[in-house]
Amino acid sequence: MKSVKAVGAKAEKSPLREFSIRRRGLLADDVEIEIMYCGICHSDLHQIDNDFGASVFPMVPGHEIVGRVISVGASVTHFKPGDYAAVGCIVDSCGSCPACERDLQQFCEHGTVLSFNTPDKYLGGMTYGGFAQTYVCKESYTLKMPHFEDMAAAAPLLCAGITVYSPLKHWQAGPGKVVGILGIGGLGHVAIRIAKALAAEVVVLTTSEQKVADAKRLGADDAVLTTDTEQMKRYAGKIDLIIDTVSASHDVNQYLKLLAIDGSVVLVGLPAEPIEIAAFNVVKGRRSFAGSNIGGIHETQEMLDFCAKHNITADIELVNVARINDAFSRLKKGDVKYRFVMDMSTLK
Ligand SMILES: [Zn+2]
Ligand SMILES: [Zn+2]
Repeated sequence: MKSVKAVGAKAEKSPLREFSIRRRGLLADDVEIEIMYCGICHSDLHQIDNDFGASVFPMVPGHEIVGRVISVGASVTHFKPGDYAAVGCIVDSCGSCPACERDLQQFCEHGTVLSFNTPDKYLGGMTYGGFAQTYVCKESYTLKMPHFEDMAAAAPLLCAGITVYSPLKHWQAGPGKVVGILGIGGLGHVAIRIAKALAAEVVVLTTSEQKVADAKRLGADDAVLTTDTEQMKRYAGKIDLIIDTVSASHDVNQYLKLLAIDGSVVLVGLPAEPIEIAAFNVVKGRRSFAGSNIGGIHETQEMLDFCAKHNITADIELVNVARINDAFSRLKKGDVKYRFVMDMSTLK
């Protein structure tokens, strides 16, 4: 067992500050990573604010973890000290239920162990995330980090990237398909890049005039201001797949109407309110409203390799640990383009 420095919240909604946490001593199949960068995701904020009602404190958030291996357990064969490695949302699962057998560890019937705020079977208490000097993770849940020119900008792929990559693949975004990206934020801006790299035609749907311009810079073929009925009419019945990244309450019916026959709106955001759907908006055109949640370990590795090959990273603001509370309050206001990443070397 080792004591390492971390940054976290001692109580609900409290400012983040430095304290020490324990990491388990290496088991035979463990990889120990010195963390270089950790992205700040909206769900870190939700967990600190206890928006899902299951937060346990003290809490160390962070699940977009990139670093270098510093030591490995005796039976580890795929990693050695010095290798770049990454840890995302999932650090363990049962490995044998129907979901795990399909590499869908995020839906494990016996409980997916997340990188933070999940019961820790080794040390007791809860798992502590990536806002720390190190992370200890089983080899089979540790990801190989391919080379990116900017490793910090690749950190958000571990949650934002896989959250949009998985549904884009599952619903077969590709040549000849029109893909709508609803909302440009941490998830949406990466979704535009991945959908383009999959060779789909990409249309951004946004309520912000400023983001219409940004959508083109990010590589979208077109952008529609959703508050403008005329612009919306242009795409009525034309979009095959809409990735809905909006976490605030919103009416999905106007987006269902944009779908072509057999099209789907896939929710990846987490609005707190139930969503109402008018029957005709799905009955007509055999349309679907569906959801998707992160992605399995093998798919996360596939996504990292795909993004490295296509040179896809996030647009980030790199922040020092000293500025973490400022970053969180700006994230709360939506004042970030498009992801904060913490430089964990500033924790030393
Ligand atoms: Zn996340
Ligand atoms: Zn399982």
